[in-house]
Amino acid sequence: MIIAIDGPAGAGKSTVAKLVAKSLNFLYIDTGAMYRALTLKALEEGVDIKDPQKVTELALHTEISLLNDPQAPLKVLLDGRDVTSDIRQPRITRFVSEVAKIKEVRKIMVELQRKLGNRGNAVLDGRDIGTVVFPKAEKKFYIDAVFQERVNRRYKESAGLGQNLTAEDVSADLANRDKIDSGRAVAPLKQAEDALYIDTTKLSIEEVVNKVLGFING
Ligand code: C5P
Repeated sequence: MIIAIDGPAGAGKSTVAKLVAKSLNFLYIDTGAMYRALTLKALEEGVDIKDPQKVTELALHTEISLLNDPQAPLKVLLDGRDVTSDIRQPRITRFVSEVAKIKEVRKIMVELQRKLGNRGNAVLDGRDIGTVVFPKAEKKFYIDAVFQERVNRRYKESAGLGQNLTAEDVSADLANRDKIDSGRAVAPLKQAEDALYIDTTKLSIEEVVNKVLGFING
């Protein structure tokens, strides 16, 4: 069974997806981590992120893997190197949407995501899982929250990671990514028609997880 969870940054997708995967003993596939890993490599190698051809060329020579044990935190490997925490750096967050809007890059990532998902039962979170990657997913969710709440959550998260960001920085980043992710020509962020919409603004994580599990089992 494939479970697709889409929505904007800060809505709680990954937290919920991880808990749902753990509870069902499904694979958790963090598709954003793949775009982040490629962005990290582009920045490290000085590849111009605004040059789609160069970034695509880089993607073709990059190996991204997710080390997946449903009962342990997901590990992200970039050409065999553990980059799980490096890909959360603010500089990656700042540029990732530029990388993710490149058509050929998406083709490569989507292929990888389908390969992983087709191994068995999986929960995938991202922006285009229910619309493009697995349009036939058995259960689809669109997880959302009002902008200010998403900013608050991401701000707390960044402070917890010891990142030196102001609430204004976080707000500007989310607004920028919302705009690029929703406005891009290829696979823009949008709710699949058959997805269950959940507004998490006033819900606890547990309440959201219970809603999701209820819909899956229902
Ligand atoms: O989920 P996360 O915030 O880590 O994703 C980082 C970025 O990767 C998103 O802002 C978006 O630009 C891109 N992304 C995407 N499609 C996905 C997952 C992530 O375009 N399925």
